[in-house]
Amino acid sequence: MADPKGFLTHGREVARTRPVDERVKDWKEVYVPGSLLPIISKQAGRCMDCGIPFCHNGCPLGNLIPEWNDYAYREDWSGASERLHATNNFPEFTGRLCPAPCEAACVLGINQPAVTIKNVEVTIIDKAWETGDVTPQPPERLSGKTVAVIGSGPAGLAAAQQLTRAGHTVAVYERADRIGGLLRYGIPEFKMEKRHINRRIEQMRAEGTKFRTGVEVGRDLDAAKLRKRYDAVVIAAGSTTARDLPVPGRELTGIHQAMEYLPLANKVQEGDFVAPPISAEGKHVVVIGGGDTGADCVGTAHRQGAASVTQLEIMPRPSEERPGHQPWPTFPMTYKVTSAHEEGGERVYAVSTTHFEGDEDGNVQFLHLVEVEFKDGTFEQKPGTERKIPAQLVTLAMGFTGIDRENGLVEQFGLELDARGNVARDAEFQTNVPGVFVAGDAGRGQSLIVWAIAEGRSAARGVDRHLTGASSLPAPIGPTDRALTV
Ligand SMILES: Cc1cc2nc3c(=O)[nH]c(=O)nc-3n(C[C@H](O)[C@H](O)[C@H](O)COP(=O)(O)OP(=O)(O)OC[C@H]3O[C@@H](n4cnc5c(N)ncnc54)[C@H](O)[C@@H]3O)c2cc1C
Ligand code: SF4
Repeated sequence: MADPKGFLTHGREVARTRPVDERVKDWKEVYVPGSLLPIISKQAGRCMDCGIPFCHNGCPLGNLIPEWNDYAYREDWSGASERLHATNNFPEFTGRLCPAPCEAACVLGINQPAVTIKNVEVTIIDKAWETGDVTPQPPERLSGKTVAVIGSGPAGLAAAQQLTRAGHTVAVYERADRIGGLLRYGIPEFKMEKRHINRRIEQMRAEGTKFRTGVEVGRDLDAAKLRKRYDAVVIAAGSTTARDLPVPGRELTGIHQAMEYLPLANKVQEGDFVAPPISAEGKHVVVIGGGDTGADCVGTAHRQGAASVTQLEIMPRPSEERPGHQPWPTFPMTYKVTSAHEEGGERVYAVSTTHFEGDEDGNVQFLHLVEVEFKDGTFEQKPGTERKIPAQLVTLAMGFTGIDRENGLVEQFGLELDARGNVARDAEFQTNVPGVFVAGDAGRGQSLIVWAIAEGRSAARGVDRHLTGASSLPAPIGPTDRALTV
């Protein structure tokens, strides 16, 4: 156990963020660099090393949290890093981006603020990179088997790293021009600087994983041919079909899917454009959708110099406290103030968009909305509450409905989909096509990075067993696990 009295003598302290007026002028991560290290040992010391550590169950990866808290308390960063990597290929991604269901499940959280698990995680991994503890781990011998991974998001990368280390020859096919999936082009630089992806890719390359960018399987490369060329295939193509808003005026110029808008801002940071082809500069911006994707649009619009930013959500505003029907240790749906929300803008709850209004040139100018109430499973409009707000750039951030159905991948492999439009799989993450596996949002539906990594690791074990008859790779989750978490 770290510090037997740590939870009694120290309160919860989290990473400090840079002042708003400073950080909205740049795209760097919002945290004060180096602010965690001086406090993290005491914070890790708040861990009680519970007999039944509920944090394990809260985390889809089954992270060995009390073990690395103990190492972090003792400032044994090397030991902590070894324990961290035992269950997570990419703690620098989850340590920055995860909503931390482990903290919602932390036993300390029953009657006082939970252990800052996520901050401890990111400190351990940043220190490990800094001290050179993260090194390539190439396999000792090759199996002679080949695997193609389709998609380079967190699920594809985790599967590829596990399979490469198990001795298989792995090639990752990615239709975008850079590796990383939503980590690269969805999540803005101010939430995670892309250098963190780049150095992992270098590590993976040094271990032997091959990367092929600019190849869309189904469109540029026939899926059946790929199947013949490789002994197994992992589909980690994400859930990229965005939900639309088919209301009058949707066709006006200036209304974009969030995933049309966010990648362009990320491409400016990569040096592809001087200015983004779609920009919020000087415009009244409306973001439709109150989730993570919406918050990323809000933060991006602030940095581009929007005149105003309004985020709309159809659901009512959640409570600030854990609601009674979502008791500890479940992940509660509470009111959250993300770094993007700290930076300004207005959030409007329980409203629905009725239509858009444009000018004579076909550019959107206003969004018409109405207040709604959720009754008997449907949203009822409240008469007399209609109003319009200025909207010169609108981003739709209303979620995703499943794998891309337009590039032919599903048909060419002959994949069966489940009732929710995701690729169906068995307990080993194998699809209806023998030797073809699925991991991440493509099989689970729109989810989280931590689930994608857990699925990639579990699918890798399924592939390894399929290729060799046995596997020593871990499988943190099953394909239908939802656990206590989001
Ligand atoms: C804007 C945004 C912000 C988010 N923020 C967070 C967050 O803060 N924290 C969090 O936990 N989760 C967040 N999420 C969710 C998280 O990013 C996803 O759950 C996660 O990335 C899913 O990983 P994946 O590997 O399954 O798929 P993806 O990351 O979607 O990667 C799939 C990859 O497959 C490629 N691909 C698709 N089809 C083909 C094909 N036919 N051939 C070749 N390549 C193909 C795509 O180009 C893509 O690169 C966010 C999502 C969005 C959209
Ligand atoms: S539940 Fe919280 S206090 Fe208990 S072991 Fe996990 S992190 Fe430590």
